[in-house]
Amino acid sequence: MNLKPCPFCGSDGFNHQGGIMCSNSDCFMFNVCASEQFWNNRPLENDLQADIGDLNRENIGLKSILKTLENIDEYKVQGHECYAKHVLLSLRDRLKRIERGKK
Ligand SMILES: [Zn+2]
Repeated sequence: MNLKPCPFCGSDGFNHQGGIMCSNSDCFMFNVCASEQFWNNRPLENDLQADIGDLNRENIGLKSILKTLENIDEYKVQGHECYAKHVLLSLRDRLKRIERGKK
């Protein structure tokens, strides 16, 4: 298992007689030996990473909708009102799916 950086100072951890300690002598984890499972356990970070992933996917979806919306007026100018309305309805549907957290 790869060791994550020290949860308190960000320095490298090292294995010392089966436990993990911080390599930074100024960090209180320098003198504390933790199990590998404890050292690498970051539930808040994991939740935040999951949230960031969700937000990135949502942002990509919204950018795609925005890009399509930019072309709606062009369809209308070209006399394709019906197609513009169809695109708008499909965008509303995509937006609802994004709001529900689905792709
Ligand atoms: Zn540390």
